[in-house]
Amino acid sequence: MPVALVTGASKGIGAACARALAADGFDVAVGYASDAEGAAATAAAVEALGRRASVHAADVADEEQAGAMVAAAEEALGPLDAVVLNAGITRDGLAVRMSADDWTAVIDTNLSGAFYTARPALRGMLRRRAGSIVAVSSVVGITGNAGQVNYAAAKAGMIGMVRALAREAGPRGVRVNAVAPGYITTDMTAGLSDEQRTGLLAQTPLGRLGEPDDVAAAVAFLCSGDAAFVTGAVLSVDGGLAMS
Ligand code: NAD
Repeated sequence: MPVALVTGASKGIGAACARALAADGFDVAVGYASDAEGAAATAAAVEALGRRASVHAADVADEEQAGAMVAAAEEALGPLDAVVLNAGITRDGLAVRMSADDWTAVIDTNLSGAFYTARPALRGMLRRRAGSIVAVSSVVGITGNAGQVNYAAAKAGMIGMVRALAREAGPRGVRVNAVAPGYITTDMTAGLSDEQRTGLLAQTPLGRLGEPDDVAAAVAFLCSGDAAFVTGAVLSVDGGLAMS
């Protein structure tokens, strides 16, 4: 059976990705930072779909922990066929007032954390000449967003990383892609004001915010054989928001 690792899979988009991949036949390693209960619930959902699951606590911003998570996932379930780089945080604020800590925390977790997870996984994939990596970027990495200079830089950086890795890994049959979600209803966006929500809806041709399953379906597609000729792509899952 194919094996996938999803980081930040204790809730939100990551948990939805774990379920979608399990429904597609993947055994799933559930990465999480601190929410052991959430991770266990995701693992239970994977097992309810008839697949094997394992859970791995790791702060992806720590290179050693990210590497240990990849090794433990392979030890538990076998060589990784797919990795979803989903773990992410926000620390919003206007650029002129943003602390260096808020800048660094978001770059370290969202961008460096994705690299620290992708690299050890990639080594095995390159040896086996197969595999798919999907980074969860954001519409904000494409359009920018006032109050999110750190997040926009990290998410744009992920797109550059994906395209560089796609060029390095393509000749060995490994695909690397990104999804760029718009505004998705998770804990991360729970703090949006009614005014912000109304403004976003007005700019979204499909007229609704997204659900985690909307993103998970795109991630599962990119991990599947149906995307066998897709690499270096950035698939927007945003109801059309990036066009506005
Ligand atoms: P969420 O807050 O519900 O989940 C984030 C997950 O990342 C959690 O499981 C958390 O434990 C994990 N995480 C955070 N820091 C970590 C660390 N240092 N090490 C390991 N895991 C860590 O948010 P979400 O909305 O599900 O976001 C998932 C991803 O999707 C993030 O990368 C986010 O930037 C991206 N995204 C979200 C939206 C949105 O509107 N919700 C839009 C575009 C992109």
